[in-house]
Amino acid sequence: MVARARARVEEVLRRLLGVKELVVRGAHFEPHGVEVEVRPRQRRARCPECGRPSPGYDTAPSRLWRHLSLGRTVFWLRYAPRRVHCREHGVKVERVPWAAQGSHFTYEFEQMTAWLAQRMDRTATCRLMGINWRTVGTVV
Ligand SMILES: [Zn+2]
Repeated sequence: MVARARARVEEVLRRLLGVKELVVRGAHFEPHGVEVEVRPRQRRARCPECGRPSPGYDTAPSRLWRHLSLGRTVFWLRYAPRRVHCREHGVKVERVPWAAQGSHFTYEFEQMTAWLAQRMDRTATCRLMGINWRTVGTVV
């Protein structure tokens, strides 16, 4: 019963995040917002260069990606990416479905920021998205 209710909450969270190809494993409040623990839906890790499923090498430390806000609450995705050993490209941090390689932001966050930056001035975009001027430039 508890497990089923938990599975429902995780499904609601997954839909709320609006990110396909990920599984929600849990969530908790932190001073900076809600951290949602996720993992890629694909069981096998993929090389970021060629996208091929590759054997695991080890796991990198867990990290955060800034996602969109719901009201005043900022959502963050937390995951410890695996490192893969690609036959062609060597040891690489796996590709995750919610963010570009090396980005601290999810695709949805970047798209929203870029969209706003085209329609309003940077100061307004910064205030609305809670990021600084340089970050807007990087995202755009
Ligand atoms: Zn590769």
